[in-house]
Amino acid sequence: MHLTEYLKHRGGKTLISIEIVPPQKGKSIDQIFRAVEDLIQFDPAFVSVTSHAHERVIQRVDGKKVLRVKRKRLDTNAICLELAARYGIEPIPHIICAGFTRDETEDALYTLNFHEIDNLLALRGDPPNNQKYKPRSHGHGYASDLVQQIADLNKGIYLDPIDNPLKTNFCIGVAGYPEKHPEASDFKTDLRHLKKKVDEGADYILTQMFFDNSIYYRFLEKAKRIGITAPIIPGVKPIYSLKQLTSVPNTFRVSIPEEFKEEMLRYETREDVRKLGIEHTVRQCEDLIRNGVPCIHFYTMSRADPTTEILKQTFGARAGRRIRF
Ligand code: FAD
Repeated sequence: MHLTEYLKHRGGKTLISIEIVPPQKGKSIDQIFRAVEDLIQFDPAFVSVTSHAHERVIQRVDGKKVLRVKRKRLDTNAICLELAARYGIEPIPHIICAGFTRDETEDALYTLNFHEIDNLLALRGDPPNNQKYKPRSHGHGYASDLVQQIADLNKGIYLDPIDNPLKTNFCIGVAGYPEKHPEASDFKTDLRHLKKKVDEGADYILTQMFFDNSIYYRFLEKAKRIGITAPIIPGVKPIYSLKQLTSVPNTFRVSIPEEFKEEMLRYETREDVRKLGIEHTVRQCEDLIRNGVPCIHFYTMSRADPTTEILKQTFGARAGRRIRF
């Protein structure tokens, strides 16, 4: 079932979802499975799995120059299929433009459709090593172009014409930035680009993390004003160490409220800092639930802890129902 249908029929309750990051190449996925097993008791509506651009380097091998395409992490789509098979969870693969041609994307989408994966998150993606984004030849420049390709496949429009084509059935999600995307010149322009993604066929929006709910509510208001009616699922991330007070804003270009930062810095022990961080996310979640959000998305970084604690404090333990919608 499409995620949007599931959101519509949630019976007024706030759903939860989680994001996981595939393990680095050569590492085991066991820690991620353990995290999912810990979090499954809270009945996540879906688990989204990130995807990462390959590194393409020219190297000299046996005296000859060769192009090496280095994949850094375990394949996203393979993890999604395993999550569905093992746990009956609805997986949402992140599909990125970065590093892929349109033909490669079409092949991946056709295969996902064969595996009955119905829900996707379509993103431009970031290139490795903080390089400037540059599409592959015959690739996509923006996520809106990728959304258009997926929406076309849903209508049976492939890159090359096919007689009596199979139509795919994807529900398409895209990213939204309550504090604007770092490369955008201003908030209004970025919001216009978000509207374009929805106009091209995006069905739902998942937000970048934020630490002050008023930023999210303003974003909802402004999105509504320019005619965005797709559901906008808020994303939250617990901060549980002093190091994260600088690493999270630097990495994701998001702000952390001054009062929260100052309060954190007054605490001396790691345990106190962690407790305060958890309390902050619990307060955020309680407020989001009071304001009727359809779902809260947790950026877990593939760790069950401290999300488990936040969910326990916010919802209490939920029955471990397995959902395949
Ligand atoms: P876009 O929507 O294409 O926007 C990128 C920039 O281009 C923005 O500044 C936008 O304003 C601008 N823009 C858009 N359209 C146009 C246009 N027509 N003309 C001019 N400018 C335009 N990254 C990964 O690598 N892997 C992941 O799995 C991943 N998952 C994510 C999940 C979520 C929920 C979020 C919020 C982000 C995720 N990211 C991921 C990060 C994301 O890929 C980066 O933020 C990336 O830089 C932008 O992706 P986008 O899909 O928002 O791009």
